[in-house]
Amino acid sequence: MASGSASRYLARMTEPAQVIRQRKPDWIRVKAPTSPGYHSTRRLMRDLGLATVCEEAACPNIGECWTKKHATVMILGDTCTRACAFCNVKTGMPRAVDPLEPEHVAIAAAELGLEHIVVTSVDRDDLPDGGASQFVKVIEALRKQTPNTTIEILTPDFRNKSEAAVDAIVEAGPDVYNHNLETVPRLYPTIRPGARYYASLRLLESVKRKAPHIFTKSGVMVGLGEQRLEVHQVMDDMRSAGVDFLTMGQYLQPTPRHAKVEEFVPPQAFDAYAAIARAKGFLLVAASPLTRSSYHAGDDFKKMQANRNAQLERANG
Ligand code: SF4
Repeated sequence: MASGSASRYLARMTEPAQVIRQRKPDWIRVKAPTSPGYHSTRRLMRDLGLATVCEEAACPNIGECWTKKHATVMILGDTCTRACAFCNVKTGMPRAVDPLEPEHVAIAAAELGLEHIVVTSVDRDDLPDGGASQFVKVIEALRKQTPNTTIEILTPDFRNKSEAAVDAIVEAGPDVYNHNLETVPRLYPTIRPGARYYASLRLLESVKRKAPHIFTKSGVMVGLGEQRLEVHQVMDDMRSAGVDFLTMGQYLQPTPRHAKVEEFVPPQAFDAYAAIARAKGFLLVAASPLTRSSYHAGDDFKKMQANRNAQLERANG
């Protein structure tokens, strides 16, 4: 049965919540990272001079993920050229691109024994190709050093860059191409001011059109003041762009300077969103308060493969 907070949330069709403000509810609490696995992952990243979104974004799952040696590497440095209201990564003028970074990412994947790696980056509007060629080099280094590791990339939008930049990444052949829409279009001017909703959507659509075999993935945060019907519309938009995998998680305010949490969305409401998303035809849906783009990405990749195979078998009778 839905709890009081869940039923209040589920009852609202169009109004942003006025409930459950700032104090984190029990379903958000996570343990402090202390395990030996966490510390050895941390040491390796330091030794190789690699940044991770796990640390830079102050991800609540870091204890769990790093204990299992699952980290999301952030390439192209630790300084972003944009200043999104939800993101903890620092903004400024980034340093020059590190030519050793692709090899270091590949060494990290080998040392951690990764079956699946997630590689993301800061926005690099200062570079002519937005950093696309560094993604290509990382994919190539990984294929060479750890050919059995499946590769998931989570890229910026490459807004105002040539289409050839994205084409080069698609040709390099990642197994999963992820680009997050992050929130509903109405909230873009305040939450993601440097981005454009329809440009992001077009990026996802163009990856799927160019390489239908590459799984596409996108995510949204909830709790920023969005309305449920707006979230349903985002799901429809993603499906019309051919997105295979939807992730949804609770937005958490990294510092008081960032956008406020407008509401803590109860777990049962995530279940309701997931049921609707599945009915809309996503191959896979991950929706829970602590879901993040790269949370359980390896296991989810296997599920996506299994779901696609089952779909093909059904289609072939
Ligand atoms: S969910 Fe993703 S970003 Fe967060 S700790 Fe795990 S791998 Fe890192």
